[in-house]
Amino acid sequence: MKEDRHVIIIGSGPAGLTAALYAARANLSPLLIEGLESGGQLMLTTMVENWPGFRDGIMGPDLMTEMRAQAERFGTEIVEGSVTTVQLGQRPFSVSLSDGRTWTAGALIVATGASARWLEIQSDRKLAGHGVSTCATCDGYFFKGRPIAVVGGGDSALEEAIYLTKFASKVTLVHRRDTLRASKIMQDKAFANPKISFIWDSEVADVKDVGKGEVTGIVLRNLKTGVRSEVPLDGVFIAIGHTPNTSLFAGQIDLDPAGYVVTSHGSRTSVPGVFAAGDVQDHVYRQAITAAGSGCMAAIDAERYLESLTAPPVDVVVTQAIESS
Ligand code: NAP
Repeated sequence: MKEDRHVIIIGSGPAGLTAALYAARANLSPLLIEGLESGGQLMLTTMVENWPGFRDGIMGPDLMTEMRAQAERFGTEIVEGSVTTVQLGQRPFSVSLSDGRTWTAGALIVATGASARWLEIQSDRKLAGHGVSTCATCDGYFFKGRPIAVVGGGDSALEEAIYLTKFASKVTLVHRRDTLRASKIMQDKAFANPKISFIWDSEVADVKDVGKGEVTGIVLRNLKTGVRSEVPLDGVFIAIGHTPNTSLFAGQIDLDPAGYVVTSHGSRTSVPGVFAAGDVQDHVYRQAITAAGSGCMAAIDAERYLESLTAPPVDVVVTQAIESS
């Protein structure tokens, strides 16, 4: 069966759009399916100051708009929609959207990202990019000399808290239990840091002040006593884990115990012809620039894979070379 497309890319964050740019420039006419969170996590940030090439920074949504336009300029077709089914046990692969549209492709690039977990309150999302962040590396710089909180008790929360002490005047770590989940070494570092203080057994019941459009404090509820209290501060970093967006692929490609796509030799997954890029396969670096880099790798890997399918067998090439010499 002839495929509709050489390559389909699922996901429109830095990984997906960079894969699209490279695939388009390799004349593969890629189809990119945006997914639910069009533009990915950078759409939730404000100023991005660690993307090389913009000395004064660039707004996250503006960067994604540029990447998208660049991918389209070279022939990427971008469709809105959310993928509901992929069939990876057949060739060509097939990808279906919730509205019933289905395409087939010789290669697939999975760039569905990971979604930062949010608290089960509304105000944190409403103030995202206005004092609430899920990325210390991206946004820590904005809190120079200001008091902030970090929510969570795992390695990410402690890593972010320690990193943020470079900027913040004080970091309050809020954890819902009285023991940390983080590794011992991270705990030791955090406990030894004079800028970090801990509030135990507490959940964030509200982030203030949605009406003002900025963070002025958090309302805490002690889970043992039920007592509520308010802590004035300027920023909140939520570090309660990420969820890789891989439910579509479960049972079809290898995932690690945390649900991330397992890649090897660049961007290859356990299914030949399926490649993965960005946060969906990376729980270590999680940066826009590393996601973009891996998107480039996935496009090159996909191009070479497709070429290998059409390349004549080696003995034919050798015979032709001898005949023409
Ligand atoms: P994690 O280990 O799953 O920790 C999540 C933390 O958030 C836990 O303390 C959890 O509380 C808390 N939490 C979850 N849902 C919550 C909610 N709704 N409200 C309040 N708190 C909530 O996630 P992670 O810290 O992102 O780490 C993920 C993986 O990456 C881990 O394997 C970790 O070791 C690894 N990692 C390693 C490093 C490093 O080695 N430098 C750095 C970052 C991450 P409970 O403890 O009560 O469940």
